[in-house]
Amino acid sequence: MNIAELLDRTARIFPERPAVFAGDRCLYDYRTFRDRAARIAGHLRGPGGLAKGDRVAVFMANCPEYLEVLHGIWWAGLVAVPVNAKLHPRELEFILQDAEAAALFVSDDLAEAVPPASRLTIIPATPGYQAMLAAEPLALQHRAPADLAWLFYTSGTTGRPKGVMITHRNLVTMTMAYLADVDEVSADDAILYAAPMSHGAGLYNFVHILKGARHVVPLSGGFEAPEVVALAQRVGRISMFAAPTMVRRLVDHVAATNAEVDGIKTIVYGGGPMYVEDICRALDVMGPRFVQIYGQGESPMTITSLGRTHLANRGHPRWAERIASVGAAQSLAEVRVADASGCTLPAGEIGEVLVRGDAVMAGYWRNPAATTQAIRDGWLWTGDMGCMDEDGFLTLKDRSKDMIVSGGSNIYPREVEEVLLKHPAVQEVSVIGREDPEWGEVVVAFVAADGVTAAELDALCLEHIARFKRPKEYHFVSSLPKNNYGKVLKTELRALFTPVGRPG
Ligand code: AMP
Repeated sequence: MNIAELLDRTARIFPERPAVFAGDRCLYDYRTFRDRAARIAGHLRGPGGLAKGDRVAVFMANCPEYLEVLHGIWWAGLVAVPVNAKLHPRELEFILQDAEAAALFVSDDLAEAVPPASRLTIIPATPGYQAMLAAEPLALQHRAPADLAWLFYTSGTTGRPKGVMITHRNLVTMTMAYLADVDEVSADDAILYAAPMSHGAGLYNFVHILKGARHVVPLSGGFEAPEVVALAQRVGRISMFAAPTMVRRLVDHVAATNAEVDGIKTIVYGGGPMYVEDICRALDVMGPRFVQIYGQGESPMTITSLGRTHLANRGHPRWAERIASVGAAQSLAEVRVADASGCTLPAGEIGEVLVRGDAVMAGYWRNPAATTQAIRDGWLWTGDMGCMDEDGFLTLKDRSKDMIVSGGSNIYPREVEEVLLKHPAVQEVSVIGREDPEWGEVVVAFVAADGVTAAELDALCLEHIARFKRPKEYHFVSSLPKNNYGKVLKTELRALFTPVGRPG
């Protein structure tokens, strides 16, 4: 099925339900949402001259038009290529060329950054966009489940970005998995897009369309804690996807202002490690509103989940371990931990996390070598290291490439980071390995903190972890380098130690 059928169905059976909001102002209902998508589709396939399966890039900051553009693309039987709005024009150009994008939607504020090209370029704030909305609506185009729907470019921190091929079946599976494993959704709910719609937050539109819920794009277009709290109070029953750094900022704001958070129904967090200290504080300050998911572009939002009941069940004898885990396999995913040859490891042993199921990508766009490397015998090799307990709860250690081998022992940076974060003065921390002639690698910590000494942190480590895991060096910094999704760039930290032009 075409994923846009969800919009078609909801618009037919609940046409008057409020659909898209700018802040707390409703812009239009589901009937209009569907009509606009069908007209955008009509323009793309009519005067735009695009053919089924053509790729259409979307280089827009979060805005209400984002949803109608995406659904217009699918309605027309085309492939959406949402591009992170914070990318450099050169990075955008790489994606446009690699995807062979036939058209590009670009928001007003980003239009200047777009390289001149012959392809069709459409800017929502212009009269051309209004004219497009007056195009003859197109009939919903059929798509097979295995057809490509969303070409998602990886962040490329380890090389050139790769296009992850997400099919209509992948998106349908992800949508059902949300209902099965993450949360219930009703028509009274609202999804708030406070993280980039080109990424995980955007993927949550489908389940909210399916249930006829409201879609709220904050006026700031991004994440501002006071705005989130105010919108939640006015709109009510909001859910949102938030990276761990966003959760931290929101919790700080709520704690500092004693704000009322009843309007926040669910915060789904994931995309990077949530430290135990942080989730405990979040639960203390905001109550049982949190659900964790673990996924990656190659299996979007759909590997494991840790539901609110498990997070809230402090009486459970293994609660402390469970909140440090990423939960159990989602209902529609098979997950196992394997050694380098693909053999499943017993509970408690660390290996690479493998996942199989209908949410796993079809492969990398025009890159069979990378596809063969990532998907073997139907299993996606995630590149994440972890271990599973007897009950099936998965604890992630680190990306395999982030693991440190010092004196022949494996050290998982996250374990050291968790300990350093116990110090109240430490705001952010990242642990990496630095090459060392004697030990192979030594542990180095980058710490953003106010008034704490290396000796104090060393004492804290001695209290909690084996001596060999302690950082040999501390670097105090004002903040850590992050990518556009708020993930710490360990590659940049490591580069500080890469000898450039070392004398021979
Ligand atoms: P991306 O493909 O950019 O979404 O990044 C996916 C990667 O983020 C995964 O392979 C993990 O390394 C990390 N990640 C995602 N969710 C979690 C989570 N809940 N806890 C820890 N790391 C996560």
